[in-house]
This record gives sequence, C-alpha cells and structure tokens, in this order.
Amino acid sequence: MTAANTSAPQFVILFGAPGAGKGTQATLLAEQRGWVQLSTGDMLRKAVAEQTPLGKQAESIMAAGQLVPDDIITNVVTAHIETNPLQLGYLLDGFPRTVEQAQGLQEWLEKKGYKVNALIVLDVDEQKLIDRLLGRRACANCGKGYHTSTGVPKACTQCGEEQITARKDDNITTIQERLQIYHKQTTPVLDYYASRLAVAHIPADTTIEEVKDAIAAVLPL
Ligand code: AMP
Repeated sequence: MTAANTSAPQFVILFGAPGAGKGTQATLLAEQRGWVQLSTGDMLRKAVAEQTPLGKQAESIMAAGQLVPDDIITNVVTAHIETNPLQLGYLLDGFPRTVEQAQGLQEWLEKKGYKVNALIVLDVDEQKLIDRLLGRRACANCGKGYHTSTGVPKACTQCGEEQITARKDDNITTIQERLQIYHKQTTPVLDYYASRLAVAHIPADTTIEEVKDAIAAVLPL
C-alpha cells in the first residue's frame, strides 16, 4: 500500500436514497469549499444528451431505474478525477452505489495514496422521498431545480428558459425500482465502510439550510 499523501485531496461521499438531497447538498458544499462535485447521475445524463457511446449504453438502463455496470461507472469517475487533478477535494454524489464500486474506488485511491475522508448519510423517510422525486422539476437549459410543492415558475428565474421539466426517471414505477435497488444493492456499501471510517447519519427530512448546517457540524472546514 502507498503511504498516505499529506497534500492529497479530500474525498467525501454523500450517501442516501434517490431524493435524499445528495445533489443539493453536494452543490452547496462544493461552492462553499471550492471542491469539485462529482455526480455520476449528472455525468451520465450529459452523456445521454450528447449521445456518446457511454450515453447510448446508459440510456435504457437509466430509464428503467437500474444501475450502469460497475466497471464502467468506476472508470468514468476515476478517469474524470485523473483529468481534473490537484483539487482540494471531491464530493462524491451518487457513487459508490454498490460494494463492487466501493472496492474499485478503494483500489484506485490506495494506488494514489488517497483515501475516503468521510461518509455522510442523508436519512429521509420513504414516503417523503417519493413526494420529493414526484414533484421535482428542473430548467431544461441551466438545470436550476424547482419543486411543485413550492411552485414552478412559467420561466426559469435564473435564465428565462420556459421548459421546466421532470426527469424521465422521476415517475412512480421507476422511483419504486430505484428505491428497491437502493435497499438491495446500495445500502450494503455502508457495511463496507463501517470498519474503515466513521459513518455520519444526518436526519435529512428537514430544510436545505438545516441539513447544510448539520453537515457542517460533522464536516468542519
Ligand atoms: P441519480 O441522478 O444519482 O439519481 O442517478 C440517475 C441514474 O443514473 C441511476 O438511476 C442509475 O441508472 C444511473 N447511475 C447514477 N450513478 C450510478 C452509479 N454510481 N452506478 C450505476 N448507475 C448509476
């Protein structure tokens, strides 16, 4: 094993079911700290929109709410970090999602002399997750997020775009599949890390601000 690297970037995993708020909190944390947010879901959606070979392969898998193969996604993440080196830290949002992905990440980190510094689990009640996902909308141009419960404007307040849409996989059938996969394939990742680092559980049924403060309390600057 390579010795720990003192100037190594920090790696923080934001963990939780679909709709738990990983993306929202990762964006806030990344802005606050000048870190890089690595959302595998966003990377895959971009690949689908651009119809790259990865996007073509991932499109039907994502529409069905299933997982893209482990080796592919692990390579996407590590290759992305390799091409954006020398960052202060990375917020892993939606990855690793299986024990195999966690092992693949661990092998890559060890080769580099890096490690996962923290794992934060956002805990949200299942019915609340479903409500959040069903009401989630985003601007088709800039990606700004909205929710039907708080009102969706006619045009995006950030860029003026009029198309504000739901994600293709935010329908009840796919949501249920994604939640089942989360319980079966993703939660075992917590056992994988339990012996390696302190796993922090944050009640994330509350507001964005409250969750942000709770994360800051366990992840001081
Ligand atoms: P998300 O935006 O994190 O909800 O991810 C949307 C979809 O992208 C998931 O339902 C999967 O189909 C795919 N995906 C995202 N991250 C991963 C991952 N780490 N492993 C496999 N598939 C993924």
